[in-house]
Amino acid sequence: MDNHQCKILVVDDSESDRFLLTCTLESLDNIEIIQASSGHEAIEKLSDNDFTVVLLDINMPGMNGYEVAKYISSVEDHKHTPIMMVTAQHASSQDVLLAYEAGAVDYITKPVVPLIVRNKVKQFVVIKQLQVKTDYLKSEHELILESAGQGVIKVNSDSTIQFINSKGSQLINAIPDKVVGTLFSQWFQRYHNDTIVEEDFFPTLYKQVRLRGSHQQREIRLNPQDRNNFPVEITCTVTQDYEESPMIILFQDVTERVILERRLLHLANYDPLTQLANRAYFHDTLMRAIARTKRLNCTMVFLMLDLDRFKLINDTLGHDIGDELLQSIALRLKSILRDNDMAARLGGDEFAVLIEDCTSVQEAEDVATRILVNIAKPLLVQGKEITIETSIGIACCENGEPNESILTKWADIALYAAKSAGRNTFQRFIPAMSEQAEQQAFIQNQLRLILESRAFNIYYQPQVSLIENRVVGFEALIRWPESGYGETPISPDQFIPIAEQSRLIQEIGEFVLIQACELLEHWQTMPDKKDLTLSINLSAKQLTTPNFLVQLDNVLHNYTFTPNQLIFEITETAVLDHSEDVINTLHTLKSLGFDLALDDFGTGYSSLNYLQNLPFDIIKIDQCFIQRLGNCKKTWALVEAIMTIANAFEMDVVAEGVEDLLQLNSVMTLGCDKVQGFYFSKPVPVNKIDESLSMDSLLSFTSRSSTVA
Ligand code: C2E
Ligand code: CA
Ligand code: CA
Repeated sequence: MDNHQCKILVVDDSESDRFLLTCTLESLDNIEIIQASSGHEAIEKLSDNDFTVVLLDINMPGMNGYEVAKYISSVEDHKHTPIMMVTAQHASSQDVLLAYEAGAVDYITKPVVPLIVRNKVKQFVVIKQLQVKTDYLKSEHELILESAGQGVIKVNSDSTIQFINSKGSQLINAIPDKVVGTLFSQWFQRYHNDTIVEEDFFPTLYKQVRLRGSHQQREIRLNPQDRNNFPVEITCTVTQDYEESPMIILFQDVTERVILERRLLHLANYDPLTQLANRAYFHDTLMRAIARTKRLNCTMVFLMLDLDRFKLINDTLGHDIGDELLQSIALRLKSILRDNDMAARLGGDEFAVLIEDCTSVQEAEDVATRILVNIAKPLLVQGKEITIETSIGIACCENGEPNESILTKWADIALYAAKSAGRNTFQRFIPAMSEQAEQQAFIQNQLRLILESRAFNIYYQPQVSLIENRVVGFEALIRWPESGYGETPISPDQFIPIAEQSRLIQEIGEFVLIQACELLEHWQTMPDKKDLTLSINLSAKQLTTPNFLVQLDNVLHNYTFTPNQLIFEITETAVLDHSEDVINTLHTLKSLGFDLALDDFGTGYSSLNYLQNLPFDIIKIDQCFIQRLGNCKKTWALVEAIMTIANAFEMDVVAEGVEDLLQLNSVMTLGCDKVQGFYFSKPVPVNKIDESLSMDSLLSFTSRSSTVA
């Protein structure tokens, strides 16, 4: 570029003058001299050359220098070609003026001074070479801008667009002329989630860019002409030269990337089965919602849902139906909630709902009621009508309190309370629940420790046959250790339900079973005890453990006593509550030769039909009936009816909780043979069994009953 060949035109009718000028200039670098002997020839040469300077003689025959100069200045392509007039020695100032008017930029007089003419021409050569270089650089930059894969615009500080490259106009779908001079905001708009108001968008952007020199912003909306808007990413720079220097903005279509990102985000944040928010996303939202209640001084409500007996449906009807059921429930949840509320699946059959901006607790409870009612409506899944219910725990957060982990714990505790309150209901967290939950956690820990050190005791309560007038068996009842595990021993009524919430109940069951078997086995060697029966309590949770029968078999094959000496007591509610599995297990136990007793009979509203189909040998009438016998005629009639049914089904009856002689006489009058209760003996430790076998109360009863009779 620096050695661009510059063409110089020397126009003179005098050959010697042309020769002289040519010789003078020849020594200059990078020039080529072209000669013309007349004005016409000069014009001809001009048509296919680009001259750096024209040295033009004024006095020529035909067409003089002025006319040639005028012509050159009038032609678009050459009007900027510098003309240097060569005048005669005697030229007047009028002549010089004419020369300038005709378009000349300089003049020299004949005879020319070589040094002067050479230097003047040299200046034009230098200027030409600079110009060529600038043009080259300019076209190179333009080429870069044009070939850039991104749209480029230059925007004034007042937001008018000054320049757009071809990729930019392709993206905007308008030719550059339609874009240049328009406002930035006509094409570019902030992302819809942005908090900035539209009018402030450009000024804010400009300010930011000025401050930092450059700035990148993802997801700006581009509104092309006659097309739908799409997201673009912009990169802005501003030269720091002066206060209001324009901003250069590069922009590119990021539609595909945004779609991909959204898809990834969805995968990361949503549960694939139900399309509800997943646990992680819910957790994030919860944190944000809590912070918001602090900022805005408002209330937010957290509902924790757990479907009732979902596992049963999943196990019996299959996972496909289970999955569809979860999907339908998710849809129902969404349909109940407002757009601002959030529903999430925390895992399994556990869901959560966040209600922001809750004005009252009543409002939260109304939502909970709506959820309960809607979920409980029958669902049609794969042609089957299924009804499922849910339990809901409610916890509220006010002004940022409590924090996320405590709030979750509260909701959990309230949910548990709802489950305990009989399911298909909601409970709102109250502080008393927390104490209860702490107590439960304490008991659970202690249970583990007690099991580890095998510190449980077992007490035995005698069962008396009134006809045989002797103790015919015992019921094994578990006891919390006297000391070392909390201040006072905890009753089984309290700790068994807690153990039932985990695998602990299986371990407790196994412990009691082994102790009972050891005792029964021991009794086989003793003539006065080898016919005694031993009853143990089975929890419903044990019966639903898949390998319960295998475990039982593992224990039992070590012993030789006959199976019907071991009696399993199962509460009526356990049987009512549970599925076919439980009933099958009962039949298996029966077929193995064990006797089965229906415990706490009368508390669970059994239907007679039910009794008929279950393999029970013994009915244990719940102590609440026995205790009311003396003062309630209806209870009397009820127990009478139970006795009739038991006789009809050939079942034995045990009256539980007989505490005094009056109750004893009543059950006797009703025809009940077997009795268990404090009247004869409280449950006793193993070393007191002999004492209870020959108990005074039995003797005194015999004497008294003979008087009664
Ligand atoms: P349950 O099976 O109905 O046991 C009878 C309960 O009544 C025992 O309470 C016993 O001490 C009490 N009782 C007996 N006679 C009288 C009486 O005349 N008056 C009164 N007021 N009560 C009497 P306990 O030992 O506190 O057991 C409570 C419950 O805990 C049991 O009720 C049973 O459901 C459960 N349980 C006890 N031991 C075990 C066990 O080893 N496994 C399982 N799964 N549950 C057990
Ligand atoms: Ca029992
Ligand atoms: Ca009972």
